[in-house]
Amino acid sequence: MLATVTARKVLITGGAGFLGAALANALCERGYIVRVLDDLSAGDPSQLSVAVHFNRGDVNDVPRLWSLLQGVECVFHLAARVSVSESILYPREYNATNVGGTVSLIQAVRDAGARRIVFASSGAVYGEQRAERVREDATPNPGSPYAVSKLAAEYYINTIGALWGIETVILRIFNAYGPGQKMRPSHPPVIPAMIRQALGGGSIIVHGDGTQQRDFVYVDDVVEALIAAAEAPTVNRLIINVGSGIPTAINTLVDVIGRVLGKKLTPLHVAAESGGVSRLCADLSRAQERLGYCPRVSLEEGIRRTIEATLKREAAR
Ligand code: NAD
Repeated sequence: MLATVTARKVLITGGAGFLGAALANALCERGYIVRVLDDLSAGDPSQLSVAVHFNRGDVNDVPRLWSLLQGVECVFHLAARVSVSESILYPREYNATNVGGTVSLIQAVRDAGARRIVFASSGAVYGEQRAERVREDATPNPGSPYAVSKLAAEYYINTIGALWGIETVILRIFNAYGPGQKMRPSHPPVIPAMIRQALGGGSIIVHGDGTQQRDFVYVDDVVEALIAAAEAPTVNRLIINVGSGIPTAINTLVDVIGRVLGKKLTPLHVAAESGGVSRLCADLSRAQERLGYCPRVSLEEGIRRTIEATLKREAAR
């Protein structure tokens, strides 16, 4: 779809965030005209290449969306508040941005005419599941306001998309990581937090006993899936998992970080976080079949690249 000569404009909401900036820069390199809308509540526009057209604003600002959507073929909807534990404290704010912002966007798309929306949903919507690798037809079992907000947004996107004739694709992204992922002061994501602790020489904080498994997927692989979802011909209304397909225990993650750094790391076990699950890993059959998706970056290689980028950034300070 995006590969035609005339249809090269895209809009990325939340495009100054971790995944959004990586996507924006990759699309620019491939010749697309990229507009970004981000309120900078968590984003950092300095991560964006100079070719990206950055606009500061709220995804609930429909008139702003109308103007940014002019001539746009595809919208990547990534703007969201993204912390499971923070969502337990502030469910109203999560509902307003993640659900309200999605409804605002799709209504603006109806009026301004973009053809397709690719929505960054989350593996968190599955919650606790029995299967070692969860398929898209599993019954969602959200365990936090964040997960509920993503699931509600999925329903809005697919339902309103069908009613108004807008193509929609939902990617359920698992635990993404890589260079550019921010250390939020409260509730930081696990990989940047552990890397920071490991480089600082302290103990590595592990919530719970560390046997809980997650599916860690490198940022470049997620970007490939997002672009494929915009270009693939037969994905309308589909929900598609995006992960590595490999379950990794948190204790194993500590070992991998230690191996890359050539250090023996000492885990410090603290209380388990609420809203977490014992395991969550993607079945990738549909992503392989419909998107030709195949994750390329191993956990060890991804951690190596992330640590190198962290050290480079700190050296430049
Ligand atoms: P991020 O926090 O780095 O990016 C989200 C961006 O949205 C930020 O730049 C923030 O400033 C912006 N934003 C927040 N509220 C906004 C508003 N009201 N208006 C405009 N912009 C707003 O997070 P990320 O990790 O890059 O996640 C991007 C998307 O992918 C999110 O929708 C998230 O739910 C989804 N996702 C991420 C992961 C992951 O592991 N990183 C996993 C599953 C799903």
